[in-house]
Amino acid sequence: MDNNGAPITPEQSKYIEQLVQELQQLEGSRRFDLTSLADTSGFTLHEARERIALLKQARDSLYAKKGRQVLKKITPGFYRREGKTYQVRPSKRGTNMYALRVTYKDGKPSGMSYERGAIYELRPLDRMSQEEFTSFANEFGNATGKCVICQRKITVQAHTGICPGCRTAI
Ligand SMILES: [Zn+2]
Repeated sequence: MDNNGAPITPEQSKYIEQLVQELQQLEGSRRFDLTSLADTSGFTLHEARERIALLKQARDSLYAKKGRQVLKKITPGFYRREGKTYQVRPSKRGTNMYALRVTYKDGKPSGMSYERGAIYELRPLDRMSQEEFTSFANEFGNATGKCVICQRKITVQAHTGICPGCRTAI
């Protein structure tokens, strides 16, 4: 079935806006006015797909140039982006970082799973405030009985969501 002539979907339109914002953040300058790229009024599904492909290509080539600098600004900790929660951790060798996404079951946190590439989507601004982190740690501890930082079982004060070992490390 060919529905390329159908109008742009709200998801596509939102995704295009996000990509443009991301490009603007990556550019970090006002050399280019990118806002016109977010204008998709009257677009068809097909045109939206082409715009998305173009923006992603631009984004990826910027990351190839600046990826390391962008990642440097991301520090280990907890982040929220587009309704999803992530923990950023350093790799074992400490040379890289990666992101785990918090999984939910019946509306409650159930664990964390590695999400490939998510680290590149996170921005310093997505970082949780101390208050948000405390509240999320409690929620995670209550639902899973595990430490939000190291994911080990907590035997004392599980409701805080932070095991004694990690608490002293904070
Ligand atoms: Zn812990």
